Amino acid sequence: MSFDVFPGETLGVIGESGSGKSTVSRAVAQLVEPTAGKVWFRGQSVFDLSMTQRREMRRHIQMVFQDPHSALDPRMTIWQSVCEPQRVQRVGCTADQREHALQLLERVGLTESHAKRYPHELSGGQKQRVSIARALSLQPDLMLCDEPVSALDVALQADIMNLFAELQAEFGLAYLFITHDLSVVAHIADRIGVMYLGQFMELGSIDEIIDHPAHPYTDALIKAQPVALPSYLRTNERVHLQGDIPSPIDPPSGCRFRTRCPYAEDRCSAEVPEWREVSPGHWVACHFAGQIQLGASNSGRTSVGS
Ligand code: SF4
Repeated sequence: MSFDVFPGETLGVIGESGSGKSTVSRAVAQLVEPTAGKVWFRGQSVFDLSMTQRREMRRHIQMVFQDPHSALDPRMTIWQSVCEPQRVQRVGCTADQREHALQLLERVGLTESHAKRYPHELSGGQKQRVSIARALSLQPDLMLCDEPVSALDVALQADIMNLFAELQAEFGLAYLFITHDLSVVAHIADRIGVMYLGQFMELGSIDEIIDHPAHPYTDALIKAQPVALPSYLRTNERVHLQGDIPSPIDPPSGCRFRTRCPYAEDRCSAEVPEWREVSPGHWVACHFAGQIQLGASNSGRTSVGS
């Protein structure tokens, strides 16, 4: 898979569990080294840099993790946790680090009293705000958000998503936003990449992907969204994806999605679909993109096996 994240934009990456979304974000964060391929940041291949250069580059790429409970060290106060990236990168003196940390905590909606507490004394939403403040502490250009709201309840999810949007406007951040929830990514993303078994199936602007999906997998994900409508207002459109996502160690031949695709034909097992641009900026990997009758129906329900 190959993609760009442009300054100030949000690229959402969506897919089922096991599709490789988190591995992508960890490779970009240099937490795992890819066995093949490159990660480029500001025109430099990050894994070809010296350790000193990589350490400097890491300042500009920060991460917000899925589970705010395990993302914070239980033995450190909130203040210490938010100061730690500055301490590791030797930014400013201790007093400056503490002052900057407090400003960031206040910016994400917390106070000095929260700063003095330990993680177990905060709620899940407050801990995720701390994680965001910590990620902001080195003034990154790119923030990798790996399912950052999936561990929170629905009311808190909206608050945190609004906070992400405000911070992006304020600091000009680019987000690589990983999620399995299309409604979450539709709230914030400029573009969406739909991932399956380690590859992109479709990539395009949010409007294009939601209104004109060209890949059967994208279509199934859209129709799998829960709909807050009475049953008589829903359509009967359903796409049943049978079975589990196959093992990435031994993926299906041809199209990786063919074992679960309701439109699969002989050609799908024999040939790998070309990654092609079906309209400006809208890329898809399906032999029959544009020929299959797909349509986003926000009033339908789909069951997606997982
Ligand atoms: Fe389905 Fe074939 Fe298209 Fe793959 S290439 S998504 S199996 S129709």
